[in-house]
Amino acid sequence: MRAAVMWEAGTPFDVRHVDISAPAAGQVSVDIRACGICASDLSLTTSFGQPTPVVLGHEGAGVVTGLGEGVENISVGDHVVIVWVPPCGRCTACRRGDDYLCANRRSSADARAGHGIARPSPLSINGQLVHQGMSTSTFAEQTVLPANAVVRIDNDVPFDVAAMMGCAVPTGAGAALRSARVQPGDNVAVIGCGAVGLNAIMGSIVAGAARVIAVDPLAARREFALTLGATEAASFEEFTASFTNLDVVIDAVGHPPTVLAAWKAVRRGGTVTVVGAGRPDQVVEIPAYELFHDDKKLTGSFHGGISMHRDLPMLVGLWRSGRLPIERLISGTADLDDINEVVKAQQSGLVVRTILTPGH
Ligand SMILES: [Zn+2]
Ligand SMILES: [Zn+2]
Repeated sequence: MRAAVMWEAGTPFDVRHVDISAPAAGQVSVDIRACGICASDLSLTTSFGQPTPVVLGHEGAGVVTGLGEGVENISVGDHVVIVWVPPCGRCTACRRGDDYLCANRRSSADARAGHGIARPSPLSINGQLVHQGMSTSTFAEQTVLPANAVVRIDNDVPFDVAAMMGCAVPTGAGAALRSARVQPGDNVAVIGCGAVGLNAIMGSIVAGAARVIAVDPLAARREFALTLGATEAASFEEFTASFTNLDVVIDAVGHPPTVLAAWKAVRRGGTVTVVGAGRPDQVVEIPAYELFHDDKKLTGSFHGGISMHRDLPMLVGLWRSGRLPIERLISGTADLDDINEVVKAQQSGLVVRTILTPGH
């Protein structure tokens, strides 16, 4: 099957034939019909120690084509969203209901960091191991995953919309709805208006926020956020100079300057939620007295606090009712062969998401 291989960190993708094994016991094979390129796919190799060669991609949807031994509750032909935080169902986090924090989730990047061994990759080229990025590898016509790494979705949800429900939608909308717990009437700002930030804006509107301020360096992104229902827009400089006393700031960038700007902009007792992935070596310094005196809450948000097996119907329902207009974020589709051009277009900020259609 064809897949986009990254041979070394940060180099362009090489779309070529890759061998893939049949699903082992407890696994399923999936034809990837649509996948998005998430910013973290690219930073995985440059900042997070992802070993190479690797097939990246974790925001995908497709059709189940094969079942390994013992797989129940899912059938060949089912439409599924790929879950990059598959729950083991047995650890404390899973049993508590926070299965996106599963203690037994492993990827090839974790293995390099000494956090235990990932399951063997199903991918190879002429017998040479190819890593499976985020244990999902959706930049490919097919993938093989544990059965708990897919969740069934209604057949009438278009694959491009379903793909975004695998990462940008739960991460962004969940940051507002679950992690920050935006309340009706809250004044909210969202720093960074890429796919995750725009979903956080839509999630804040769903939660009933009064003001929703879209913060981004690119004028085109700010304008687009206003068309999605943001009530105001600001550059980062305008935001730090003029906005204070907010109830919630969601930081979809996650670098020290944006976290500190968010911290300064929330009122006493307000909430800063960091959903953007900073680098492991970046440190945020906050005055200890302020931390005590201002009674602000500083929270992380991993996968938007969303459990895919529990919460996907909620996301689909919000999409069906038009309250999460996910298709507005999708500028079009492209063949897997065009992946390098799509990366460039997304990085320039010209498009939010162009969805790849590998197994169409
Ligand atoms: Zn992602
Ligand atoms: Zn678990």
